[in-house]
Amino acid sequence: MEAAAGMISVDEARERILAFFDRLPVERRPLLDALGQVLAGDTVAPFDIPPLDNTAMDGYAVRAGDTAGASPGSPVELRVVANLAAGYLHETPIGPGEAIRIMTGAPMPPGADAVVPFEETDEPLREANAAPSRGALVRVLKEAEVHANIRFRAEDVRCDQVVIPAGRVLRPSEAGVLASIGLNEVAVYRRPVVAILSTGDEVTEPGQPLLPGRIYDANAYSVAAMVRKFGGIPRLLGISRDTVEEMTRKIHEGLGADMLVTSAGVSRGDFDVVKDVLAREGAIDFWTVRMKPGKPLAFGAFTAPDGRRVGHLGLPGNPVSSMVSFELFGRPAIFRMLGRTDWERPMVRAITRDRVANTDGRRFFARCIVTQGEDGRWYADLTGPQGSGILTSMSAANGLTVIREDLAAANPGDEIDVMMLDWEHAP
Ligand code: AMP
Ligand code: MG
Repeated sequence: MEAAAGMISVDEARERILAFFDRLPVERRPLLDALGQVLAGDTVAPFDIPPLDNTAMDGYAVRAGDTAGASPGSPVELRVVANLAAGYLHETPIGPGEAIRIMTGAPMPPGADAVVPFEETDEPLREANAAPSRGALVRVLKEAEVHANIRFRAEDVRCDQVVIPAGRVLRPSEAGVLASIGLNEVAVYRRPVVAILSTGDEVTEPGQPLLPGRIYDANAYSVAAMVRKFGGIPRLLGISRDTVEEMTRKIHEGLGADMLVTSAGVSRGDFDVVKDVLAREGAIDFWTVRMKPGKPLAFGAFTAPDGRRVGHLGLPGNPVSSMVSFELFGRPAIFRMLGRTDWERPMVRAITRDRVANTDGRRFFARCIVTQGEDGRWYADLTGPQGSGILTSMSAANGLTVIREDLAAANPGDEIDVMMLDWEHAP
């Protein structure tokens, strides 16, 4: 049952896992629910944006020629024939010597070819907020250039243009652009549902009393939070005792999901029910991955009642190992199902201020804090003790060192690669 003796690299483990997963089917979602999902088709504009020429300023719509020679010393007086708010059309053309008081966004009245901002008129001298009545005169203090302060029809988007191509991740700007062409729903690749099962007789649900010798279930929560942060939908299956019956039952409850994640029970020395269940019920590989923390990892698949193959990632039990393994292997799987390819974290070259020893030829993901020095360079400090049970080391960190497996140690002053966990982009 225990396949693949010998160690595999992080990259190989990741490739094998990625090879299993595909992009999920398309669904229609309300705009806000689709944040972080990938747009399944090109979005084509059904009209121009802006749909009409309109004013970019509060001011007076004029015929620029009427303002020729205007200056503070010899203002030009125009007759105010209307007061136009955004959202309303003024259909009568403006005539010679006329002006229309107009608010930002209001469509340009026919005949007007410039907007004189309030600041270039005697408007500021009027009583506070007193709009001139129809027929009143406005004094223009500066000559207007043709087209001044006008936003032109279609200057942003032209009708039938692709405004957002297929494959783009929906961010706040995409939500805005889609809404601006009138859409409140989009077609996106479905979010993966990830079922999460903790295993172990000692593991206790947070909120319950803790018996002597027991521990609370950290892994289900750290992993579920990562699933959600990466764009998936976590489904907590709870905790299974180390019995074949309970584990089998709980795993079957999770097979409606797109992926199943278990924690603990995959290490070599374990007296392991997970292994038995997996070997009996699913196709499974137990890997020893050349990484620290982590090392034992299981990957396989169960067949759901509807015939779908549900990928299963068996994480190590130690809380740091579990998180780092899910970061390295669960994140790409979720992104692949979402249709995203940008799962690589931003990397930074930083100068380590600590010695990072790499004892046994594994890639070392030490928890560190990266900060920028006054010299503008990036520095990395370890968070403290690096045991794989010390979960506060993850909480303190903003990055993971990536010390290559063939490097025995990085010494203070050496440049190292750090994978940044909180950054959206490399600096
Ligand atoms: P195992 O992989 O079962 O040998 O577990 C390795 C270590 O991780 C043990 O100290 C377990 O008690 C601990 N552990 C297992 N599951 C969890 C969990 N869900 N939350 C926190 N620690 C756990
Ligand atoms: Mg155990």
